[in-house]
Amino acid sequence: MTFAALGIAEPLLRALDARKFHTPTPIQADAIPPLLTGRDLLGVAQTGSGKTAAFSLPLLHHLAAHPARLAPFAPRALILAPTRELALQIEETIRFLTPHLRLRTAVIIGGASRFKQVETMRRGADIVIGTPGRVCDLMQTKELHLHGVRHFVLDEADRMLDLGFIRDIRRIVAALPTPRQNCLFSATMPQEVAALAHGLLHDPVRVEIAVKQETAPKIDQFVHHITQAGKTGLLLSLLDDAALSRVIVFTRTKHGANKLAAALEQKGVQVNAIHGNKSQPQREKALREFRGGRARVLVATDIAARGIDVTGVTHVVNFDLPAEPESYVHRIGRTARAGAAGVAIAFCDPEELGALRQIQRLSGTALTVVGDAPSPEQFRSAPAKPKRPGQAQRKRFGNRNGGNDNRRVRRAA
Ligand code: AMP
Repeated sequence: MTFAALGIAEPLLRALDARKFHTPTPIQADAIPPLLTGRDLLGVAQTGSGKTAAFSLPLLHHLAAHPARLAPFAPRALILAPTRELALQIEETIRFLTPHLRLRTAVIIGGASRFKQVETMRRGADIVIGTPGRVCDLMQTKELHLHGVRHFVLDEADRMLDLGFIRDIRRIVAALPTPRQNCLFSATMPQEVAALAHGLLHDPVRVEIAVKQETAPKIDQFVHHITQAGKTGLLLSLLDDAALSRVIVFTRTKHGANKLAAALEQKGVQVNAIHGNKSQPQREKALREFRGGRARVLVATDIAARGIDVTGVTHVVNFDLPAEPESYVHRIGRTARAGAAGVAIAFCDPEELGALRQIQRLSGTALTVVGDAPSPEQFRSAPAKPKRPGQAQRKRFGNRNGGNDNRRVRRAA
């Protein structure tokens, strides 16, 4: 299968070729043909599947096929993403796909200069990529009109709802004209997303790339049972192993992320933190340093890390387990990208045992317990400081096929 066989316009084919994208990913092969014919689409797929190009290519194809003069403040396509980072990544994809097309793109996101965004809208943009808050903001001040939108994409709908954007989304959808083509992507399909899709999409084609197939085979998943107070010490001892060369650590709160980053920095670890309280330039700098290898560890909250596409992440550490099991799947999806192997390590305090159980139920995977898995009773009386894991235990994360003989490995209940 080639992109040409899918019927994509020649200028886009040339751009794909330059990027050495020769074969469509499964989601692209399934989604592009119906989108080219103008159908609505419900895509169940996560970041890493190639979904951005899956919706962008047909959208660009349509826009290129119907050239129109730029209208101030009135785009022809609107793409909504839950986070600034994801919006910028979508823009990056669109940028590399369009060197041979005369299409203008504007990114409308919080945490960046509103003034510059309004100026861009004044000059006119064919495509707006935005986060719901800032898009609503500009709609309210009449610096963004949606009456010309013919193509609408809602990306990562489940995350949008998790982040409380449902009201903004309703306002935006209510302002969209008909007829138009709609596309909704979501990694998971809880009831709320299904309801949103039902209200938005007209006779959609459903394309699904199963999460389990995407993540399960390539990621080794471990869990340490550890008290909250012992987590920082455990992380530091794991970081003694150079095999943990590009590590994303997830914390539950922004405060927790800052605290942990400070503690790691104090011990000489090159670390950056990324969360909702950081300004856009700070986030971009943190990501750049992490991508470039200048920072070894990126401490992140879910919101900030959603959709981050960094290749070569060797380990994902769930310093705090997420409250929703779906987030665990998203989080560990940051490693083992593009076919590479990866390791996910969870730290589970007694209070988090319920969350661990849910994660295992959802993912259908039993995490491998490292060291002891005491009962909750034993845990409560456990000392606050953990024993530093032995060398053999630490080494194991760096050597996927290394001998495990001298450790106790049990399947979590
Ligand atoms: P996405 O799921 O859109 O975040 O894409 C995940 C990664 O796959 C990105 O780094 C893309 O650049 C890459 N990618 C997307 N489509 C293809 C393709 N057809 N061939 C190779 N890489 C791709």
